[in-house]
Order: sequence, then structure tokens, then C-alpha cells
Amino acid sequence: MSEEKQPQLPRDPHEQLQERILADYPRLGPDDTFKFACHPGVPCFNKCCGDVNIFLSPYDVLRMKKRLGMKSSDFLEKYTLLPVQKDMKTPVVMLRMNDDEAKTCPFLTDKGCDIYSDRPWPCRIYPLGLAAQKDTPDGWRGDRFYFLLKEEVCKGFDETKEWTVRGWIDDQGIDEYNEWGEHFKELTLHKFFEEGGTLAPEKMHMLFTACYDQDKFREFVLGSTLLKRFEMDEDFVEEMRYDDEALLRFAFQWLRFGLFGEQTMKVKAEIAEAFKGTLDKKELFDKDQPKGPEKEK
Ligand code: SF4
Ligand code: SF4
Repeated sequence: MSEEKQPQLPRDPHEQLQERILADYPRLGPDDTFKFACHPGVPCFNKCCGDVNIFLSPYDVLRMKKRLGMKSSDFLEKYTLLPVQKDMKTPVVMLRMNDDEAKTCPFLTDKGCDIYSDRPWPCRIYPLGLAAQKDTPDGWRGDRFYFLLKEEVCKGFDETKEWTVRGWIDDQGIDEYNEWGEHFKELTLHKFFEEGGTLAPEKMHMLFTACYDQDKFREFVLGSTLLKRFEMDEDFVEEMRYDDEALLRFAFQWLRFGLFGEQTMKVKAEIAEAFKGTLDKKELFDKDQPKGPEKEK
């Protein structure tokens, strides 16, 4: 986590944008079509890869750090910013643009994106956007729909290649990103926050570590007594040693158990027995949580 100066975001930019999209943008179905192509021959080639706010999901970071063969802590330090906002409920991670005049993306080359097959979700879904209405308190999933995001600079819309929405989603490999995105939203859009809940700084840090700093989280999970308290499939524990996706699945389950008291983990009978009557999930969660930088000093 970088401690350099962090930009201040305007208040609730996501919410404001979401409201505008829900009100103004035509909703596209899977069979709706649009014309678009992006290739080195377009006059605007590479012009959109600078001075942009690209928010990264845990799965984006997982793919990018793996692609670059980096440890998650090093990737986060070198390539991301953590903007601070007073009423922020969960950590926000953004791709750090270069410090040049054009604020170009660090992965931009003359030939295009250097990490193309692992580029983050916002880069791969463009020119589509995905809007999500909030889930209702009684558990109904809010509407999700695609819309077309026409940036003025983008000449890709003048091309003749025609796509259906479904065809674009398939071609760009977006489904798996969306799937991981939904799991992340189960945390970030949890009703705990809707009901006014806030996380203490150490819980925020834990959420950040478990979701984004995957290698550090792995050290914690495998190096502490955490797993001894829960019923765990041995093969799955083994998988978590080397498979970042398995570890991220575990992180989401563990956070929902610990932060919101959901039954996503099963406490071992003997542990439950030892704590009988006084079983405190908080203790099961807090005891060995990964330490933030302040605590390590
Ligand atoms: S990650 Fe790739 S596609 Fe996204 S802004 Fe950077 S260079 Fe462009
Ligand atoms: S502006 Fe549009 S067409 Fe031009 S490089 Fe970016 S995405 Fe491609």
C-alpha cells in the first residue's frame, strides 16, 4: 500500500455516475448491436490510455500481478493508488498513471497494451459499460444492464465491424471478470453498509489485504492458526498454497463470515464446544488477523 500523496476523490463519484447512467443511458440487451473496432489503424490509437481513472477489482490485480510475475505487495506499491475519501466504506484501488505530462498508463507501448490479455475489466469492457442497481433489502438482485459509452476521442465507432453485446462480452472474456466482480460486490455493497455500518481501520486494512494483497494474505492464512478453527477441505487448503483464485474465493468467504456474521464458514465442533455459550465470532476472526504496517513497526 503506497503512502505517497493520494488524490482526493469527489464525493461518491460512483454513485453519482450510476444515477446518471440509470436515468439517461439506453439499456442494451444481449442481441442489440453496435459498430466498433479498435486496432493500430484507427487515428486515435493509444490516445485513450492516459489520464484516466481505472478502478481495479481484486481479480484485476490478481491477473495483472500474475502476468507481470510480481508479488502482490510489489504490484500494489508500484502500480496502484489508494485514494482517500472521508466517507469511504471499503478500500478503493486505482491504477497509477505515469508521472509524465500525458499521464500515460504504465502498460502502454507503441504497439498498444503490453498486458492486453490480462488488462483490467474497465479496459476490456469498453465501449460497453455495465450498470448495476442496488439489490433490494429483501434480497432481490438489482437490475444489471449494458450500455454504450461513447467517448468523443474514440474513432472506433466509425469502423464497420458490427458486434452484438453478447458477441463483444464473449470476445473480450468479460464473463469471468463479471463473476468475480459479483463476489466482490457481495462485500462492498453488503447491507451492513446500507444500514449505516462502518468498518474500523483495522477491519478496512484486513479487507484490503485479503482482497488485494494476495501473497501477504496467503502467508497469513497458511502461517497462522486460522484454518485450524474451521472445517476445511484439505484439497482446497492445498490448492490455496499455489492457486490465487482459490485463495481469493476463500478470502471472500472468510470476510463475509468475519465482517458480517454470515454462515459462509463452518467452525469446528471442538472449537465451538470449547467456546460453548460464549462463542464469539469476533474472536475467531480477530485473533490472528494480518497485521497492518503500523502494527508491524
Ligand atoms: S491497462 Fe492497457 S488497455 Fe488499460 S489503460 Fe493501460 S495500456 Fe490501456
Ligand atoms: S479511443 Fe477507442 S478506438 Fe481509439 S484506441 Fe481507444 S478504444 Fe481504441
